[in-house]
Amino acid sequence: MKCPRCQGRMFAEKFYDFVRSFNAWKCSCCGELVDSTILQNRVRSSSTFLG
Ligand SMILES: [Zn+2]
Repeated sequence: MKCPRCQGRMFAEKFYDFVRSFNAWKCSCCGELVDSTILQNRVRSSSTFLG
């Protein structure tokens, strides 16, 4: 898994939301956080929003 922002190395980490826990990828270089929900949202809105 490479960071979409800086192409750095990402590692899996477990995070806790208010109501659930989820696994996400965190970049060890820039701190970019990517989880499956974020990825889906980016795919869905990639044509209108580039983050
Ligand atoms: Zn990064």
